[in-house]
Amino acid sequence: MVPRKFEYFAPTTVKAATTLLKKYGPDAKILAGGMSLLPVMKLRLGSPAYIVDINRIPGLEYVKQSGSNILIGALTRHHDIQTSKLIKEKAMILSDCAGLIGDAQVRNMGTMGGSLSHCDPSGDWGAAVLAMRGVVKLRGPSKDRTMKIDDFLVDTFTSALKPNELLTEISIPIPSARSGGAYVKLERKTGDFATVAVGVQLTLDAKGTCSYAGIGLTALGNKNLRATRAEAALLGKPLTSNVVEEAAEAASEDAEPTNDPLRGSAEYKKEMAKVYTRRGLQLAISRAKGGKQ
Ligand SMILES: Cc1cc2nc3c(=O)[nH]c(=O)nc-3n(C[C@H](O)[C@H](O)[C@H](O)COP(=O)(O)OP(=O)(O)OC[C@H]3O[C@@H](n4cnc5c(N)ncnc54)[C@H](O)[C@@H]3O)c2cc1C
Repeated sequence: MVPRKFEYFAPTTVKAATTLLKKYGPDAKILAGGMSLLPVMKLRLGSPAYIVDINRIPGLEYVKQSGSNILIGALTRHHDIQTSKLIKEKAMILSDCAGLIGDAQVRNMGTMGGSLSHCDPSGDWGAAVLAMRGVVKLRGPSKDRTMKIDDFLVDTFTSALKPNELLTEISIPIPSARSGGAYVKLERKTGDFATVAVGVQLTLDAKGTCSYAGIGLTALGNKNLRATRAEAALLGKPLTSNVVEEAAEAASEDAEPTNDPLRGSAEYKKEMAKVYTRRGLQLAISRAKGGKQ
């Protein structure tokens, strides 16, 4: 199918883009990588009257360090995050995550900002950014606001973005020494969306006690979820195999899956949440101990 008729704009500044969003309100949609928006339009599940293509706005694609944070421009492609030297050195979880999204075409076109804004509970970025306690920056017609990723992800296909706002940047706190992260994913076949996936970020203190734990879940609820019970099961404890097992068990309790005719029952997904949390923790611990973030 082809999309319904729409009017197309390609502004070259963020200001011009937000002015268009303000003018056309909910009838306008931003086009970033188009990897989710175009299928929606072609299947006529959504038919925006106005498309605001942000690909000609310079300065929205970057990965850089600023003080104790990594800043990622919203228009940065999955592939560029996967292969970024800075990300590989400081936040392997993000490189893992990007490398497991879709196929090469999707990773070359799709953007981190588009994926987070789309708020698909099976999307991978939300869980990884939850594990890192990331913050997003939103630009409206007159001002910026920032918010924790936990508040940004509201519900299935619903973010905290107002119709006249653009997500411009994702800020990720750089983990301290003795930190390790990982993103692990179960998929039916290469390039598929997750059956379940888990993002894990840990920090150990000098004695090997867990001083930071971030765990995000994908395809295990109405949106990407923070596994709060699992995080609590790790904090302040030495990461023995028993503690890892308790946390994996707790992540399964944190998960709120529903039966999915394509990717498995709620019961199966809960069991896989446990298995993949365990695997993610084991990899994150070995990276923390090996000096790889
Ligand atoms: C075959 C296929 C396989 C895929 N597999 C996976 C997978 O395994 N894991 C996964 O996570 N994703 C997967 N995806 C989705 C992919 O990651 C998309 O790139 C992503 O969901 C949307 O990003 P985009 O840049 O393409 O956004 P678009 O499709 O352009 O936009 C998506 C939505 O976000 C809005 N939007 C975009 N950018 C902004 C912004 N900066 N500010 C405000 N709103 C904005 C748009 O208006 C639209 O509503 C897959 C897609 C395809 C086609």
